[in-house]
Amino acid sequence: MSKKPSKQDSLQENSETRLAHTPAIEASIRPADEMPHEFNVHQSELEARYEELGRAHLALEESRDRYLNLYEFASVGYLTVTREGLIAEINLTGATLLGVERNKLINRRFATLVVSKDSDRWHRIFMGEMQHEEGHNFELMLQRGDNSVFHAQLNCSWRLTAGCAPIICITLTDITKRKYAEEELRIAAVAFQCQESILIADANQVILRVNRAFTETTGYSPEEIVGQKLRILHSGHHDDAFYAEMWVIINRTGTWQGEVWNRRKNGELYPQWLTVTAVKADDGTVTHYVSTHTDITVRKAAEAEIMDMAYNDPLTQLPNRRMLSDRLNQARVSSQRSGQYGALMFMDLNNFKALNDTHGHDVGDLLLIGVAHRLLDTVREHDTVARLGGDEFVVLLENLGKESKEAAVQAELVAQKVHEAIAGDSYNLKDHVYYCTASIGVTLFHNQDTPEDELFKQADLAMYQAKALDRNHLRFFDPSMQTALDERSALDADLRQASMRGELQVHYQPQINSLRHVIGAEALCRWTHPKRGPVSPSIFIPIAEETGLIIPIGLWILETVCAQLKEWEADWRTRNLHIAINVSARQFRQTDFVERIREIVERTAINPARLKIELTESLVLENVTDAIKKMLALKALCIGFSMDDFGTGYSSLAYITQLPLDQLKIDESFVQNILTNPSDKVIVQTIISMAHTIGLNVIAEGVETKQQSDFLEHSGCLVYQGYLFGKPMPVDEFLTHLQ
Ligand code: C2E
Ligand code: MG
Ligand code: MG
Repeated sequence: MSKKPSKQDSLQENSETRLAHTPAIEASIRPADEMPHEFNVHQSELEARYEELGRAHLALEESRDRYLNLYEFASVGYLTVTREGLIAEINLTGATLLGVERNKLINRRFATLVVSKDSDRWHRIFMGEMQHEEGHNFELMLQRGDNSVFHAQLNCSWRLTAGCAPIICITLTDITKRKYAEEELRIAAVAFQCQESILIADANQVILRVNRAFTETTGYSPEEIVGQKLRILHSGHHDDAFYAEMWVIINRTGTWQGEVWNRRKNGELYPQWLTVTAVKADDGTVTHYVSTHTDITVRKAAEAEIMDMAYNDPLTQLPNRRMLSDRLNQARVSSQRSGQYGALMFMDLNNFKALNDTHGHDVGDLLLIGVAHRLLDTVREHDTVARLGGDEFVVLLENLGKESKEAAVQAELVAQKVHEAIAGDSYNLKDHVYYCTASIGVTLFHNQDTPEDELFKQADLAMYQAKALDRNHLRFFDPSMQTALDERSALDADLRQASMRGELQVHYQPQINSLRHVIGAEALCRWTHPKRGPVSPSIFIPIAEETGLIIPIGLWILETVCAQLKEWEADWRTRNLHIAINVSARQFRQTDFVERIREIVERTAINPARLKIELTESLVLENVTDAIKKMLALKALCIGFSMDDFGTGYSSLAYITQLPLDQLKIDESFVQNILTNPSDKVIVQTIISMAHTIGLNVIAEGVETKQQSDFLEHSGCLVYQGYLFGKPMPVDEFLTHLQ
């Protein structure tokens, strides 16, 4: 920006450029004693004129000074340019604007001051328009002596002086500031019409201006809203104290930001993110308020949806694991405060997987929704029902009393109610009538001593015990369960060594027909632990399943059994006997399951028709298509199949008929109560007649008494296995037993 010329510069220059006194005036003001005598007569008159002249001269000089000051220090630059484009003269303001000493500007070509981008324009104007027109106004970018540039406004006109070539008079104004201001206004105007709603109010909160986005969001046109007080936008959602506090903050800090519910013209309430800024004058008084806001209806809805998704199970709308975890933590804190017990109840639907696999996931989903409703209807309002995924539900109970025994009784009551609610009535799943049962594990908590994940583990463990030991029932976690868990891992370690140390054996339990002839045996694995003695397969088989040890163990059993069959072929007493082996899910899932069996059967060269494989329903239902494929491949080798523990699982005709089975094996639990429990009696009879209808033979396991075998025989079941006819025994004993 140009520097204003100083008085000092001008005084020095003035003294040089000021006109000298003319000789005529010099003469007229000579002193009286130097005058010729004849003039003395009128001396007094002359003195008076002399004084007058002196005054006139002084006035003239003052006027010249004033004119020079006016010219030199004018607020704009003046310069004259010759027809050839050379600067003839320039005032001090002009030289200062250009940042070049005046004497260096005289005779300089004006075009050299024009920045290169504008130089063509200058030539066009100078050579064309300016030559013909009277006055000409235009803007140019000029370059100062220090190479900085500025926006200049030039007003040009021709001056004709007698006898001299015409010259151009130029008034030069630095309009850089104005240009910037214009630019800023242009930007501000564009910015004002942005996506955000903008409102400008005066210091009295009277609305002065709104932008298009504001009109679109609120529905108010500028005509309707300008002149109104800001209050018109209040929704009634916030109280007066809210707004009072907001204005206190704005006036104290200059700005306020937050979420506000306002009302559109159509009455609709909507959330907005509002920023109010006070515009202050130099003295600090507020002159305006600028309010910008964005409609956050969509964002709020998305947030709510995300929250919902993050904390709720989308299928049942029940809290998910995360929300349960929050609630459990709150419950532990409040238990700490109140001294009251709470309980965490895990439940898992029995045979859910089978339902899903046979009827499809949409039917499974309907069951889960149904169970969720029943659970919600059963528990108290402040108890939490959550779904962890799959068929796992959790109920969190609070305020169960200050005594552990009392709390356990309360929790058990709820658990029983929950169990009855789930199992009581049938579910209508599309066109299926379905009955469902659950296994429930419960753990109590008191204060915050037990960490959250520990409580989850405890309830989970109790649930698994409920499932494993006592189907359809309920188990409480207690420290002895933990001991069982520890023992389990110790057993796992020992089991890994067992086969190498020769601690595993195969025992054979006879299977007999109605003539009481032994027709075969079931091979059952036995483990004699060096310290613990015999360990039940119902304990070590699940461990082996879990750790994968079942694969080598299963192969070892198969090898042993095939070798046994081969040996029996040589003996007339045993050559017609078959042996049934148990196959666990993990073994069956192996992709090379069929191949391994084929290989062993071929290598040992046994008669495959003497080998029978026992499968369970749940194993088959894991993947029915795959099961059928594998079974058919083994059937092609003449290996037989028996469905073990039949009746405890899904027991549906629909899939049983699809499987290439030879035999159904009625589960011992039905046989046990066959004489006392009418429903077990009916189940057994139904299984027998169903088996006959679809052409399968049927065997009953766990037969312990003559009455049981009589009843079974009477009902049409002609093959039996059970203590009545012999326990599982080592092969030598089995041979003796045959005799
Ligand atoms: P399972 O296949 O259902 O075997 C029948 C179970 O009933 C055997 O228990 C047998 O000893 C028992 N049992 C037989 N007669 C009677 C009776 O009259 N009364 C009673 N109360 N029980 C009787 P065990 O040997 O303890 O085997 C339990 C389960 O362990 C078996 O059930 C089977 O699922 C599994 N298992 C046993 N050996 C093997 C094996 O080599 N491989 C696999 N994968 N599983 C096996
Ligand atoms: Mg079996
Ligand atoms: Mg069985």
